[in-house]
Amino acid sequence: MSLEESIEEFRYKGNASICPFAKLLNTLNEADKKAALKAIEKNIPDVTLASALRKEGYKIAEISISQHRKKLCRCQNNE
Ligand SMILES: [Zn+2]
Repeated sequence: MSLEESIEEFRYKGNASICPFAKLLNTLNEADKKAALKAIEKNIPDVTLASALRKEGYKIAEISISQHRKKLCRCQNNE
């Protein structure tokens, strides 16, 4: 995908205003989404959740989870 296409994609989807973790949550099936949210609630370490997600084939960095959990991510401004 070219940069121009990516910019258009983000512009139309409005994804520029949500963080990578929220974006990932939107792509998960109901069961996985529930499990991920539960892990956040239960204070499962970021690294543990990130490792589990990566094992399942999702691309996510600990820092993205950490920032979302601490409400330091960009999607918090929309809620
Ligand atoms: Zn977020």
